Amino acid sequence: MNATIYLHKGKEESLLRFHPWVFSGAVKRIEGDIREGDLVEVCSSKGDFLGLGHYQIGSIAVRILSFQAREIDRHFWKEKIINAWHCRQSLRIGSGNADSNTMRLIHGEGDGLPGLIVDLYGDTAVLQAHSVGMHRERHTIAELLCETIPPIRNVYYKSETTLPFKADIPDTEREDGYLIGRCETTEPTATENGLRFRIDWLRGQKTGFFIDQRENRSLLEHYANGKDVLNMFCYTGGFSCYALRGGARLVHSVDSSAKAVELVNRNVALNFDEETQKRHQAFAADAFKFLENIKDKYDLIILDPPAFAKHRSALRNALQGYRKINARAFEQIRPGGILFTFSCSQAVNREQFRLAVFSAAAISKRHVRILHQLTQPADHPINIYHPEGEYLKGLVLQVE
Ligand code: SAH
Repeated sequence: MNATIYLHKGKEESLLRFHPWVFSGAVKRIEGDIREGDLVEVCSSKGDFLGLGHYQIGSIAVRILSFQAREIDRHFWKEKIINAWHCRQSLRIGSGNADSNTMRLIHGEGDGLPGLIVDLYGDTAVLQAHSVGMHRERHTIAELLCETIPPIRNVYYKSETTLPFKADIPDTEREDGYLIGRCETTEPTATENGLRFRIDWLRGQKTGFFIDQRENRSLLEHYANGKDVLNMFCYTGGFSCYALRGGARLVHSVDSSAKAVELVNRNVALNFDEETQKRHQAFAADAFKFLENIKDKYDLIILDPPAFAKHRSALRNALQGYRKINARAFEQIRPGGILFTFSCSQAVNREQFRLAVFSAAAISKRHVRILHQLTQPADHPINIYHPEGEYLKGLVLQVE
């Protein structure tokens, strides 16, 4: 450890309650040499030890790895990885289950490893670093993943878009690619509850697939029978495939990206015979435009937009966006229709999202009931001391 960070008086409160972030405004002074990504000790203004973590330039100055003084060595990483794996095994997702080979293995703060995401697709782990500290540990983590988690043979590193772009990391190090092994299949797929989805680690969003909607897609399947379904912001078409399997009469998938439209068509073809495929159609279109002219066309609408607020500063606009898009859906959906609506913005909390949807309902002047309140599945655990970790919020609403 080369450096110690001392906080302003009173700024130790959140760390004493195990919140794993130190905001830059809380930092009074830094003693010693420090580079972005280094391990630092964090102390109160009086010099009491508070925690150890990775130092980062930006609004979050330190992401805490341990609230106890200890070595952050190979043993530390191994212990965390094994704990995460035991947790997933107890959930019976993925490995050993022929219907599913896909799970989130490490979910940042939820697994005590802020800045690190690891998703597992069969025998390939996709590792994503959100901090320079985690970037520097990538080789150790990749080795330990292969050593300790039985199904893992390959580790793909995909952090080009998640590492802070100003960070002092050579371009060659930023490049995505395999750290260990190489997936032999030319068209790797994620299997989820018996449905298959083509994964594009190289160009796909996130690690290639939105694993976090697994249970919500399953719920949708139960509502789909005989319905006309609109899957807005469809990306790989997860919800569309579940709707088709659930017996939907027709499914329309919409995304502004032509690449996504290609993906959803491919995934529908991967799972269904030609007769069933005829019940599906995908469109490249803007959501706000598409929702203007669909009066009484659909019984079931899914709205799963990208995070409207990436940062707290964008909160107001984001809430407006949620209000507007949900109001459209309420106005257009058939009487008795069901709306699955989501927000994955970390900066928007559950109450704020619910309020935005409430306002949207009021604008449309329709009677709306909440049937389900949805969240992320257990392989995306929420550290109770880090409420920001509850990023996925969803409501299933019936519109009279
Ligand atoms: N529901 C998906 C994930 C959605 S990700 C799943 O279950 O996997 C959000 C998607 O919204 C992205 O694919 C992005 O291309 C698309 N998107 C972003 N802005 C859009 C807009 N204005 N209109 C339509 N699609 C948009």
